[in-house]
Amino acid sequence: MKAADFIYHRATGVAEALRYMEDYDGEARLLAGGQSLMPMLNMRLWRPAALIDINALSELAEVTAQGEETHLGALVRHATLETSPLIAARLPLLATMVRFIGDHQIRRRGTIGGSLVQGDPASEMPLGCLVLGAEINAVGPAGARMIAIEDFYDGAYATALEADELLTEIRFAVHPPHFAFHELCRRHNDFAVLSVAATGHFSADGGWHGLRIGLGGVNDRPVLAEASMALLEGSSLSDADIAAAGEAALGAIDPPSDIRGSAEYRAHLVPRYIAKALRDLRLSAQG
Ligand SMILES: Cc1cc2nc3c(=O)[nH]c(=O)nc-3n(C[C@H](O)[C@H](O)[C@H](O)COP(=O)(O)OP(=O)(O)OC[C@H]3O[C@@H](n4cnc5c(N)ncnc54)[C@H](O)[C@@H]3O)c2cc1C
Repeated sequence: MKAADFIYHRATGVAEALRYMEDYDGEARLLAGGQSLMPMLNMRLWRPAALIDINALSELAEVTAQGEETHLGALVRHATLETSPLIAARLPLLATMVRFIGDHQIRRRGTIGGSLVQGDPASEMPLGCLVLGAEINAVGPAGARMIAIEDFYDGAYATALEADELLTEIRFAVHPPHFAFHELCRRHNDFAVLSVAATGHFSADGGWHGLRIGLGGVNDRPVLAEASMALLEGSSLSDADIAAAGEAALGAIDPPSDIRGSAEYRAHLVPRYIAKALRDLRLSAQG
């Protein structure tokens, strides 16, 4: 099947893209990498009146260091995250996770903004941004606003963006020194059955502080395992601490049953994948 008819516009600036969106009164879609949009159009799950191509907006394709913060334009491609020395140095968790997205061709076109707005609950970039506590800049007719990633998702494939808003930038504070990531896929680079990302600080007193543990694929959006994080504050990440944290995480999940796995299977995996990630953190602090 092929897409239903639509009108195509190529915007040359953010203001022009916003004008087009206003013209179509919520009936247009932005085209970034097209790696999620085009399949949805071809299956006729979406039938927008118009596509507004934002690929010419080079100001949205930049990776910049702003003091201690790192800013990623919405059009930064997955392949850039994979290869940029600045990302490797400043956002190593994202550089690690992005390699699990699709295949090389998809990573050459797909963008971080498109991934965040698409909002697949098993997607890597929303999870990475959640664990890193990112902030999202959205621009619409009423001006710009910042949205904390914790408030960005309303559910599966549903975000806090208004239909006439464009995601322009994602901002990250300083990356924690230790991080780990694991995911289970049925096939190489398929969407994950579940994924776990964790970050933290290890202090000279032998304790871990500010741990953040995020889970993908086990709820209608990526979630933080907040009870586990609280339990582990100041701990040494002993085997007993890790086991308790894995069990505590079950309160944060409401896993789906789908083609990739049953809810029971996902719940069974959660403590095991949390243990893998936390053991990696512990190892990384041992150098
Ligand atoms: C075979 C295959 C395998 C894949 N595997 C994975 C995987 O393992 N993990 C994973 O995370 N992803 C995977 N993807 C999806 C891929 O990561 C996409 O690139 C991503 O989901 C969407 O990014 P995009 O730039 O292509 O967005 P598009 O497809 O262009 O857009 C997606 C949605 O976001 C909206 N949008 C895009 N940019 C903006 C913006 N700046 N502001 C507001 N709205 C915007 C669009 O209007 C559309 O609704 C896969 C895709 C395919 C085809």
